[in-house]
Amino acid sequence: MASGSRRGGLGWFILIALVVAIGVAVFFLWPKLEGQAPRLTLGRQPTHLGRDYHLNLTVSDQGAGLQSLSVQLIQGSRVKTVWHRTFPAPPQGRPSAAPTAVEVSINPRQLGLEDGPATLVIEARDHSWRQWWHGNLTRRECKVIIDTIPPNLRLLSRGLYINRGGSAMVVYETDPEVKDHGVQVGQRRYQGYGPWPRKPNLRVCFFAYSQGQKRGVPIRLWVRDPGGNRTEMKLPVGVRWKRFRHATLNISDRFLQEILPRFRSVLPTDRTKPIDLFVWINTELRRRNNQQIGKAVSSPAGAMLFSGVFSRPQGKTMAGFPDRRRYLYHGKPISRATHLGTDVADVTNAPIRATAAGRVVHAGPLGIYGNTVILDHGLGVASLYGHLSVVEVKTGQTVTRNQRIGTSGATGLALGDHLHFSVLVGGVFVDPLEWWDPHWIRDNVMSRLREAGVATPAGDKAKGRSRDGG
Ligand SMILES: [Zn+2]
Repeated sequence: MASGSRRGGLGWFILIALVVAIGVAVFFLWPKLEGQAPRLTLGRQPTHLGRDYHLNLTVSDQGAGLQSLSVQLIQGSRVKTVWHRTFPAPPQGRPSAAPTAVEVSINPRQLGLEDGPATLVIEARDHSWRQWWHGNLTRRECKVIIDTIPPNLRLLSRGLYINRGGSAMVVYETDPEVKDHGVQVGQRRYQGYGPWPRKPNLRVCFFAYSQGQKRGVPIRLWVRDPGGNRTEMKLPVGVRWKRFRHATLNISDRFLQEILPRFRSVLPTDRTKPIDLFVWINTELRRRNNQQIGKAVSSPAGAMLFSGVFSRPQGKTMAGFPDRRRYLYHGKPISRATHLGTDVADVTNAPIRATAAGRVVHAGPLGIYGNTVILDHGLGVASLYGHLSVVEVKTGQTVTRNQRIGTSGATGLALGDHLHFSVLVGGVFVDPLEWWDPHWIRDNVMSRLREAGVATPAGDKAKGRSRDGG
C-alpha cells in the first residue's frame, strides 16, 4: 500500500510537471503560432508597366514579424522574380509592427518579357509557424499591361521666349491617356493641363522663369504615361535676362511702434527688441506666408477661367516686382527681402476689383499681406490682393473680371493705403506687368491658343481696359 501510494505521488508529480512544461511551451510558442497574415498596401494600383515602373508598397506584420517579401511578374509560362528579400525574426516577445516601405523598380524589357498582358504577384510571409513553418501568406495579384513604348510628344508653339521673373505658355500634343506632363525649369516643375475635352490630345502649360532662378538652367517639356514611360525634349525658349531694381528702406521707431502690435499674437516670445521682432516678421513670417500662398494656389482649376489681358488696378505704381529690398535701421543694414508683387496706390479705401475671372481660394488675414484675397484663374495662374481694409468675397465664390472683391487699406506690413498685387504661375510669383500688357497676352497666350485651334472661355471678353503697366 505504502509503495503504491509513493508510485501514485510520482505519477501526479510527472503529470503536473508535464502540464506546467506544456503551459510554459505554449506561453512562449503561442506568438509563433499566430494566424494573422502581413498587411500589404500598394501606393497605387499598377495597371500599366512601362520601361521603368516604380512600384511602391508598404508591408507590416502585427504578429511574429515579416519574414519575406517578393514581387514576381508572370507572362504565359515565364515567371520572373523581380524582387525578393528576407527579414530576420524579431527578438522574442518584441514583434515589430513597424511598416516597411519598399520601392521596387520593374523593367519588363530587361526581364525578357514582351509588351502585352501579364500578372504581377506580390507575396508577403511572416515568421509564424503556421502553414507547416512557412508562415502566414498575403498574396496580391494584379493584371497589368506591359507597354514599353514611350508616349508621343509634339510641340505646337514656336518662337517661345520668357523674361527673367516672367511667364510663358506652351501648347503641345500628347497621347490622350497620359497622366503627368508639363514643363520643368531647373528643379521646378510646372504642371500641364488638358482643358479641351473635344481635343483630348491637346495640352497647355503655363510656366515661369522664377526671379530667384539661376541663369542658364535647362527648360524641358516632358510627358509620362501610366506605365512610367517618359518622353522629354529640350524646350526651345529664349530667356531674356533682366537686371532687377534694388531699393533701400529705412525702418523708423515710429514704424515699429505702429506695426509690431498688429503681429502680437504670432510674434516669438524669445525676442524682445522691437527691431529683432521686425526682422523675424520680415524673414520668418514672410517665408511662412509665402508658403501658405503656395498651398492656397496648389489645386487650381483644370480649365482656363480667364481670357485676355488682366485689368490693372487704378493708381500709381509705388514699388515693382521683384525689387531687391535692403532694410536699414539707424543706418545699419538689418534685413533683406524680395518684393514679390507690384504696389499700386490710389485714393484711400479704393474699390479693389478682380483682375480676371476666377474663383476665390483665400479671403481673410494672411500675415504680412494683411487682409488678402487670392483668386485662382485656372491652369495654375492666380492673383493676390494684399493690405485690404475690407474683404468683400468668400472662399469658393466665383468672380467675373472687374468684379469688386474688396477695399484697399494698410493692413499687414503696410503703413500707407495701397494695394499689393501679385500674380502666380504654378505657385511661383511672376511679374504682373506682363499680364497687364495687352501685347504680351496677345502674343504669348491668345494667339498661341488660336494657332492651336482652340477657343478661350466665352463671356469674358477682355477689352484691354488696362493702362500701360509702367
Ligand atoms: Zn507690396
